[in-house]
Amino acid sequence: MDALTRTARSISGANLSSRLERLNTGDEVQRLSDTLNEMLARIETAFLGVSQFTADASHELRTPISLIRTEAEIALRKSRDPAEYQEALSHILHEAERTSALVEKLLTLARADAGRESLDMRRLDLGDTVREVANDWHHVMATHQLRFTESLAAREVCIAGDKTAVSRLLNILLDNAVRYTPSTGSVELALETKDETAVIAVRDSGIGISNEDRLRIFERFYRADKARSRELGGAGLGLAIAQWIVEQHRGSITVVSSPGKGSEFIVQLPMSPANR
Ligand code: ADP
Repeated sequence: MDALTRTARSISGANLSSRLERLNTGDEVQRLSDTLNEMLARIETAFLGVSQFTADASHELRTPISLIRTEAEIALRKSRDPAEYQEALSHILHEAERTSALVEKLLTLARADAGRESLDMRRLDLGDTVREVANDWHHVMATHQLRFTESLAAREVCIAGDKTAVSRLLNILLDNAVRYTPSTGSVELALETKDETAVIAVRDSGIGISNEDRLRIFERFYRADKARSRELGGAGLGLAIAQWIVEQHRGSITVVSSPGKGSEFIVQLPMSPANR
């Protein structure tokens, strides 16, 4: 017992991989030390997750911040025409906007991890939400020369959900569809029902996702093509947030894709009992 106490006292954040002595006494002391070791393993995993998140977040923030800094330093090196200052400032503004969006995503995930991102679950008419979100995208789709269609279930589809979060989920999937579909392609947003489940599908005719990447795209900071995704403004956080929103609604999100042909993201959410 004294040896266990000594080891337990010495364990801190700096040596979380340490474990209490393995005992073979077959009694309650062994059960206690095994249980404490299992608890340490869980704490270590959580701790490593937080450290990794901090490291990845800092790495992601470094690129836009150094771009902003370099742009400003070059602009200030000598006196310039107003047009040149204007161009430099608009680059800086563009990068600053991207950085704000990134920080906002990081905050959502950090709050979600801490259990502080609370959703306001109410009876929500998914048809209305899908229609409203789709309305905001017609113009963007046209600008990118994409054919955009929406199809809605004939019946009313209600879930217990947070309207802002569900809209954000749809926006993430549509934003990806636009970014990964070359112009003259097509994007479809559909709301269907299957038994007691609402099924939202976002289909695109874009670049698709390989089998290997498909298994990892919901991981934080994962991008199938880092260079291309960063150029398109992505940090690999959208789908992690989408998955968190779906989980909060007790649903599931899956993807079917063939490289070069397109992708389909399918969200299934349980419908409200009154709607069944
Ligand atoms: P990002 O902001 O980088 O797009 P996401 O988490 O939203 O981050 O997506 C992760 C990765 O999944 C993307 O970098 C991209 O490689 C891939 N991806 C997501 N949606 C699509 C899509 N509709 N078509 C092809 N690839 C996609």
